[in-house]
Amino acid sequence: MICYLCGSPIPEDQPFYNDYEKYVCKPCFQEVPRCWVCRFPGKDLQHIEGLGAECEFCRGTLISDQDDPAEIVMPAAPFIANFGLEVPTDVQYKFIDRTTLREIQTKADVPPADFIDDYLQYAYPVYFQDGAHHCLLRMTRPTLIAYGIVQLAAASICNRVDLPSLTGQTPFHLFARGYCHYIGFEAAQRLNFDLEYRQLRKWPEMGLQGDFERWQSMGKFRKPAYLAEYFKAHCAALAKKHLTQSH
Ligand SMILES: [Zn+2]
Ligand SMILES: [Zn+2]
Repeated sequence: MICYLCGSPIPEDQPFYNDYEKYVCKPCFQEVPRCWVCRFPGKDLQHIEGLGAECEFCRGTLISDQDDPAEIVMPAAPFIANFGLEVPTDVQYKFIDRTTLREIQTKADVPPADFIDDYLQYAYPVYFQDGAHHCLLRMTRPTLIAYGIVQLAAASICNRVDLPSLTGQTPFHLFARGYCHYIGFEAAQRLNFDLEYRQLRKWPEMGLQGDFERWQSMGKFRKPAYLAEYFKAHCAALAKKHLTQSH
């Protein structure tokens, strides 16, 4: 095996890094920066301001401001409608830097993110607020779709109860965010987005995913139509009780 970066043969007894059918020797791997999205120690990394390093294999394959995320996410609207949510048709996406994106979701002091999966531990890569879906400058298509579904559901609920976002800690917020998260999680599973499915099962931490586990337990035995009824039955009451108090 020849190292992709330095061109030297990799000794048989030496550990190596392997991806994209390329091999990288241990000394090179320890020295070079790695791609923020896929972690590959690229030969031609470019720094994306407000995001991080992007490698030559990710370049051009990720969703960026050259794309319209709505075209990619909106085909999932009928899936979300199965859960009793009316998806808005005029959906707007805004690409923003990763720190700002996290700060609109949580003010918590979280560890620095060296890679996108560190980031996803504490924040969504797409977040609905004030009429727009704010999203990372670059991400893969499955990431945009799975998390985009969570946020389309959030936008639907915001429209229904007239809120700018689902940020908040009342029982209403936890109930609503948990439902959205569950819908995205279900979508990831059905679309065979294994990585996103595993990420959504445990992240983001610190309450961002609300009562997800409760919805997940219910979803194991109940169909979407039942969950939709359950949501409908409780959403208005919880909103009335908790949102009127906080205004
Ligand atoms: Zn090397
Ligand atoms: Zn990459």
